Amino acid sequence: MSVPFPFDNTYARLPGRFYARVPPTPVRAPRLIRLNESLAAQLGLDPELLAGEEGVEVLAGNRVADSAEPIAAAYAGHQFGTFVPQLGDGRAILLGELIDRAGVRRDVQLKGSGRTPYSRGGDGRAALGPVLREYVVSEAMAALGIPTTRALAAVTTGETVIRETVLPGGVLTRVASSHIRVGTFQFFASRGDVEGVRLLADYVVARHYPEAARSERPYRALLDAVVRAQAELIARWMLVGFIHGVMNTDNTSVAGETIDYGPCAFMDAYDPGAVFSAIDRQGRYAYSMQPAIGEWNLARFAECLLPLLSDDTDAAVAEAEQSLDAYRPVFEGAFLGGLRRKLGLLTEREGDAELGRDLLQAMGANGADFTLTFRRLSDAASVREDGAGVRSLFANSSAYDEWEPRWRRRLAQEPADEATRRAAMLAVNPAFIPRNHLVEAVIRAGVDEGDFAPFHELVTVLSNPFEAQPAFTRYAEPPAEHERVLQTFCGT
Ligand code: AMP
Ligand code: MG
Repeated sequence: MSVPFPFDNTYARLPGRFYARVPPTPVRAPRLIRLNESLAAQLGLDPELLAGEEGVEVLAGNRVADSAEPIAAAYAGHQFGTFVPQLGDGRAILLGELIDRAGVRRDVQLKGSGRTPYSRGGDGRAALGPVLREYVVSEAMAALGIPTTRALAAVTTGETVIRETVLPGGVLTRVASSHIRVGTFQFFASRGDVEGVRLLADYVVARHYPEAARSERPYRALLDAVVRAQAELIARWMLVGFIHGVMNTDNTSVAGETIDYGPCAFMDAYDPGAVFSAIDRQGRYAYSMQPAIGEWNLARFAECLLPLLSDDTDAAVAEAEQSLDAYRPVFEGAFLGGLRRKLGLLTEREGDAELGRDLLQAMGANGADFTLTFRRLSDAASVREDGAGVRSLFANSSAYDEWEPRWRRRLAQEPADEATRRAAMLAVNPAFIPRNHLVEAVIRAGVDEGDFAPFHELVTVLSNPFEAQPAFTRYAEPPAEHERVLQTFCGT
């Protein structure tokens, strides 16, 4: 094995009931579509070797590094509100953990790598389309500065998978701070395996929240930290118009990363009720529902920890409630703080929240594009600008005209000079997000025509979301009427 993979495998050293040991199933003809070279380097891997024949065999699951101890993790989860006691990695296999250049332990997992004991009726495979989608969107999220799992590589398998139709198969190499979910805790809690919950909690504290170990009540500190991480994460989603689509507890990372890019989508026109996922018929995971669902998922997490919080049930419940009480204010603070920065307000004044919410309301009533509105406000903030670029985004421009003078009066109270403010606004209001129609188009080119050039170009543009990139302005535009994507699919 000439590609060095210095895997260390702490999760595989936990008791056997935490996972199943299972190697990836080889595929017929692996071919590399894209390697994330900068991420590879961050992980201390040699991009050149990884892109070579042996490296690609590892990325496809055809070859297992000597240091790897491949496992499929056990977990449970609430899916659309219904508890499923056994889910687990049904089409993903953890190869092992690497310590990255910053000293952070990161999981390296193959997704689409064959059946495991948790596959149930599934084939353990992934179609190429969803692999490309996860690559594009997770890397875009990372570039936007939002905590997320990463995409190290995408390969085609030379095999087909059967979904509604026959589709080419793919494997994604996913990198995460860990793959431990609220559902992982639920797996043990629902079996009455308090020892399992405790071992997992100790593992998560040691790996993700070491400061909790120094607290007087480490499990309470763990709960507090996870509550905070989720509240801040979901605020970040809301500030870029991201809709996860499947906020089940098995897709809720205790490390606070965005995980599981299925039917996720970014909204174009601001619409609090926006929901794209074809399987979300009730709109449970609509854009504006996300903060409340996050809180619900955390309540399920808190339930798992009750036996660790206190021997006395009432006392444990009281602790959990206290901890969960922090969710709303942390979320609101993060969201409003972010909204203020998006508006170019670097100081805090009374009425800022209302100013922001009134703009959002006007945007919603007038189909204004979420991303472009804020991006163009960055330029409109100059006293020499008349705001025409923003105004044109509103179906009825008088809605913007009514709001704008309030904003300008507020900007006048800001101490920052114009250039500073503009730079600050451009650094938080992206020009480029993975708009649905763009993602859809690059998937179509790759899957239907084997043409990955559009995919590569989109990934590259999205890696610099805050730069103007004048050669690529078409990627910043909302979809034309006929390009609009109304539904997204997991396609698992
Ligand atoms: P997801 O919708 O990706 O969060 O997956 C929910 C559950 O279904 C997880 O336990 C997955 O491992 C499992 N699953 C999804 N697709 C497949 C598949 N093609 N084969 C086996 N298991 C799958
Ligand atoms: Mg999942």
